[in-house]
Amino acid sequence: MESAREIWERALGELQLQVSRANYTTWLKNSYGVTSQENIFVVGVPNTFVAEWLTKRLRSLVRRTLTQIIGKETEVQFIVYNKEQIQGGSLAYANQTDGGTSTKVKIDRFNPKYTFDNFIVGDCNRLAYAATIEAVENPGHTYNPLFIYSSTGQGKTHLLHAIGHRAVNNGLRVAYTSAEQFTNEFVIAIKQRQIEDFRNKFKSAHIFIFDDMQFISDKKQTLQCFFQTFNELYHNNCQIVITADCHPKDMALLSDKLKSHLEWGLIVSIQPPGFETRLSILRAKAKEMMMLASDEVLQLVAKRIWENIRQLEGTLIYLSAKAKLTGMELTSQTVNKLLTSTTNKQDSRLIMQTVANYFNLSTEELSGGKRDKRTALARQIAIYLIREEDNYSFTEIGKVLGNRNHATIIHGYKKITTETSINPKLHRQILEIQEKINSHKAPMKKR
Ligand code: ADP
Ligand code: MG
Repeated sequence: MESAREIWERALGELQLQVSRANYTTWLKNSYGVTSQENIFVVGVPNTFVAEWLTKRLRSLVRRTLTQIIGKETEVQFIVYNKEQIQGGSLAYANQTDGGTSTKVKIDRFNPKYTFDNFIVGDCNRLAYAATIEAVENPGHTYNPLFIYSSTGQGKTHLLHAIGHRAVNNGLRVAYTSAEQFTNEFVIAIKQRQIEDFRNKFKSAHIFIFDDMQFISDKKQTLQCFFQTFNELYHNNCQIVITADCHPKDMALLSDKLKSHLEWGLIVSIQPPGFETRLSILRAKAKEMMMLASDEVLQLVAKRIWENIRQLEGTLIYLSAKAKLTGMELTSQTVNKLLTSTTNKQDSRLIMQTVANYFNLSTEELSGGKRDKRTALARQIAIYLIREEDNYSFTEIGKVLGNRNHATIIHGYKKITTETSINPKLHRQILEIQEKINSHKAPMKKR
């Protein structure tokens, strides 16, 4: 399945042929595919004016185009949405030569919604939050470098932009780059033989922010350039803040030297949010979106969507679009129904991952063709656990597990059901796996 972004890029390709060039440039060019769920496709545009114009003038054309690409009847909703919110990163070099006076241009480079004030703090992210504030209020002194890691959608980029805003306010020079942008610029610099110039760009920064370091974790040359930049900045007493999707020790190609340098300061993780934090986030976002949703509905969403915060946000946008377009009232019942396919995907992914980990397999092996005893047992347990969640038909489970047929799935399910009652070891294994799954959905309040 293509992502909303990919689908929208294809749609833009087609729309470009169907509207005048001026219209395309003015109204469509700066739009993004935000999310596609059920039969609603949400397109992000830079401001309300554009959203209104597109809704009035191009909605049916866009709807037809999307329907064709997706292959089923699709509604479209235009909302005001910032590019960085989707792409999770932007490049912003503070002007290196202006002596640090903050200008409006610089402030605009950071997503205005990603501030410390808008960041909901819970047990999952308290330490990361406190450490980023310390880093910007006391740069280069307490935690240097500061390394933050988490799975996707848990607020790393948000915190980095918050540092950016605060740093500019405090009159500091800040260099912000995603690892991807760093790589692109590095490649160009090599071609143009301007490596020195490239590295010098960061030299006078008080704070150097580097987002999504995993992107360069397998790129030797870029890593080397990063390492040199890092050392130079560090010795200039520049505060360095880095994020990644894993701990440095899990980036296989990093030299031991770089790993140890990253450990000089503080390494902190952000965990998936627990129920209470999810609920606080939903309350805050619903208010911000002026969305009409009862607390009961928000609690339901918090209960069922647990993977990450981006998903929580995406779900609210989807529900609000659905309500607006169809006039549907958001009640526990309607919302429950609307969320089924999202939560199914999320739950089956978690079950497969947990079972695979438990048996030391990869999820590909679990859904692949291996037939040895361990893999076969793991697969049957996965079938059993997915089936135990509500909402799953045997056919759907077959699809999730590498397109296996209905009969194989029923066989696996029956086998585990019968055997758990007579095989205490199997029973215990299943309980252990279930416990791991549940602890992931609702991380413990204190760890
Ligand atoms: P990451 O960089 O870890 O992938 P992002 O920073 O892009 O995640 O966050 C994804 C979305 O969730 C963003 O829109 C962000 O504003 C929001 N978000 C994440 N954490 C929080 C939080 N603690 N409070 C409010 N919004 C949050
Ligand atoms: Mg990010």
